[in-house]
Amino acid sequence: MTDGLLLNYIDGDWVDGTSEIANINPSDLSEVVAHHALADINQANQAIEAAAAALPNWKNSNPQTRFDILDKIGRIIISRQDELGQILAREEGKTLAEAKGEAFRAGQFFQFYAAEALRRTGEVNESTRPNIDVEVLREPIGVTVLITPWNFPIAIPAWKIAPALAHGNTVVLKPSEITPASAYYLTKIMEEAGLPAGVFNLLVAKGEDVGSALVSHPAVAGISFTGSVPTGRKIAQGAIQNMKKIQLEMGGKNPMVIMDDANLDIAIPVTINGAFYQTGQRCTASSRVIVHEKIYDAFVERFIAEMESLSVGPALDAATQIGPVVSETQLKSNLSYVEIARDEGCEVISGQHLADSNTGYFQRPGVFLNATNNMRSSREEIFGPLASIIKVGDFEEAIATANDTDFGLSSAICTSSLYNAREFKRRSEAGMAMVNLPTAGVDYHVPFGGRKNSSYGSREQGRAAIDFYTTTKTTYSFSG
Ligand code: NAD
Repeated sequence: MTDGLLLNYIDGDWVDGTSEIANINPSDLSEVVAHHALADINQANQAIEAAAAALPNWKNSNPQTRFDILDKIGRIIISRQDELGQILAREEGKTLAEAKGEAFRAGQFFQFYAAEALRRTGEVNESTRPNIDVEVLREPIGVTVLITPWNFPIAIPAWKIAPALAHGNTVVLKPSEITPASAYYLTKIMEEAGLPAGVFNLLVAKGEDVGSALVSHPAVAGISFTGSVPTGRKIAQGAIQNMKKIQLEMGGKNPMVIMDDANLDIAIPVTINGAFYQTGQRCTASSRVIVHEKIYDAFVERFIAEMESLSVGPALDAATQIGPVVSETQLKSNLSYVEIARDEGCEVISGQHLADSNTGYFQRPGVFLNATNNMRSSREEIFGPLASIIKVGDFEEAIATANDTDFGLSSAICTSSLYNAREFKRRSEAGMAMVNLPTAGVDYHVPFGGRKNSSYGSREQGRAAIDFYTTTKTTYSFSG
């Protein structure tokens, strides 16, 4: 499944690039998962022009046509979740179970948005003037550029591509150059399902090489981006200058509040899951654990014991609970935050690089005790298996600490009090608020996204995706 050079897909053809990149397995640095052709700026322009040429037919296609193709793509993905999961685990490092689950979710997105193609409705309004009918129509925005990160290399492309196509847009996908194999096999499936040439184009490239073309080409109507805040800011500046519609999903520093009335049998597994599963490489990871002083000692003791029992190892080993960090750059960055936290006065428990397993980027999950919310380690997104533990005196201090962040993606509370749960849901300044659940782990049929520096523009997923992928036209007719 991974032999040879994996090519880009432009206007229905598989095309070579102008350079190559090796996709390395972070569990086993001697394994090259695939070599990928890297596209340059000319090919980026060609992909955009192909998407523009395919737009008139696709946007005017019968919704049943779009339903049939998207549903077929979803069914093929689900039938191949095992092989797609293998590829994903090998290129990104999440465990096989996590990777298969992600591939399955990608299939669900296509099936959900297949039906959305049939559900697109406008509005009929009464006019304030006599004998005039007012209709508000929903139309595709046009050519969409989708730019995605490495940490969910099939689910994030799927949750952008599926609504884009369902609503009649054409697409250029630029996946992360760190994990492009999942997007490559997804593209193969879209071709097999019969998507017409040019409707979808795959461009594997480095962001800095093609970014300016993607945000400034006159044929591009909108850019949906998921990634880090600095890249999001750059894309936003270019896109706004060129009057493109934008949707940005970025980082998090998500709080998990543990109240004194929490059931620790729930709070411990929920926090372990939120902080460390998928190696902490989730934008929704629980990276600030805010614990009531009355339960602090009991919580910390059990939490550390559970954390130390997690088995770290190669993604494809059945016993592995925490796979490797994705890359050397990310590992170095994680380890630098261990030092930052120590220098800031935290007691660091674990979190070390497993140097004896020099076959991969393995790091033990770790926590920073005695953390305060104003430390760098509590304010900056780390994006690894590390969490700060912050002690608070009461619910008011807990909610104030939870909200005292530049981010606002997800948040959670563990409590057995209906009052605390209700107040937390009402007062959390995040796009998602969970009760007795991890900050990470969401459904696919409801809105996803955050506030502050975590998100910009309208929500992704569920029916909310229509807001980005369509624009309205208000029509007035006088019937005489
Ligand atoms: P990144 O910002 O480095 O890269 C994301 C994508 O942007 C990649 O495809 C990259 O090639 C591209 N890119 C880089 N420079 C560009 C430029 N100048 N122009 C155009 N494209 C450019 O992020 P990453 O390291 O791949 O992913 C990790 C980040 O993603 C974390 O901050 C994480 O929180 C965030 N994330 C957010 C969500 C969410 O839904 N909120 C989900 C997953 C990940």
